[in-house]
Amino acid sequence: MALPLELIREIIGHVLHVLLAPPTTVPEEPYTNSKPQFSLISSLSLASRTYRTLALEAWFQILFTESSADPEFIQNELPEIREWTRKIHFSSPSLSSSTAWNFGGFRRLQVIRIDCPVFYYDHCFNVPSTVTELDVRAVTWPSPFVLQTIAILLPLLVTLRLSHRKIWCGLCHTCCLVKFAGTVPAKLVYTGGLGLPIHYARALSCMPRLHTVSITLPYSPGAHITLDAKDPMHELWSGECDRCVGIMYEDQTFREIWTARKKGEPLSGSSGDSAERLYIKPPALETVEWCFWRGDEEAKDEDDEEDNEQLGDDDVEDDDEDPESDGAE
Ligand SMILES: [Zn+2]
Repeated sequence: MALPLELIREIIGHVLHVLLAPPTTVPEEPYTNSKPQFSLISSLSLASRTYRTLALEAWFQILFTESSADPEFIQNELPEIREWTRKIHFSSPSLSSSTAWNFGGFRRLQVIRIDCPVFYYDHCFNVPSTVTELDVRAVTWPSPFVLQTIAILLPLLVTLRLSHRKIWCGLCHTCCLVKFAGTVPAKLVYTGGLGLPIHYARALSCMPRLHTVSITLPYSPGAHITLDAKDPMHELWSGECDRCVGIMYEDQTFREIWTARKKGEPLSGSSGDSAERLYIKPPALETVEWCFWRGDEEAKDEDDEEDNEQLGDDDVEDDDEDPESDGAE
């Protein structure tokens, strides 16, 4: 007796996208193809015309491309794929200024992943309202400007995932490698919508449906920041760099004011400027999770030199400049 086609469809989808999906706690190298190999289901595709259609439908649920011309080609030559695709993964390690990804026609698209060193307004257009999840990786300078761009391009996101080598430090206003002392938990989870860098939260505060933000980062050994996964709200670490914490947390009054600002709570007696620069929680945000993995030592040393040069040129004072005015891309 032949199995129902709907059951065959479920089996194929389960094999490709559940059993063979990579573990979520281990980040894939950027610019690698996240799509399952067709060889996994190629024999099934040869069994009959019907099975071949089901196999192709399941395989094209994820569309991986390194060319912005591919979606245009699909629109014209393989229109069925627009109905099948649920996730598009763009990989572009050397993006040109003329590159623009057109998402038009992918009516059932739910997830977009972009691996790219920059993220600009004019690189994405015709994003369907069905997209609820964005996964951005490998941006070299993930400043609040990147978050503002995301909020403008995809205002109805529910889940935002970021995976970069650096993170924004709200104290020195640069993007830094993170360094921790002691035992580093694999994951730090904040609830109640807190836990983002203040500038990130303010940039995302116009997104009415954003529920979860997940940030994945490499770390290296540091001296001044210790994370406690059982009591993360105590310090509410939100991207601050090891150097800033070492210098600025010596001042206990500053530390209390800064921590209160990260909770959206102005302390009585703090300056008007501080009161205006509080954490603003995106209205539906519930979960902010930070995932950590041990970074590569050679790359760490190389980037440390760059960081030291930047810090030597920058004013470490918390002047709270507008994120739009920073020199980031
Ligand atoms: Zn810093």
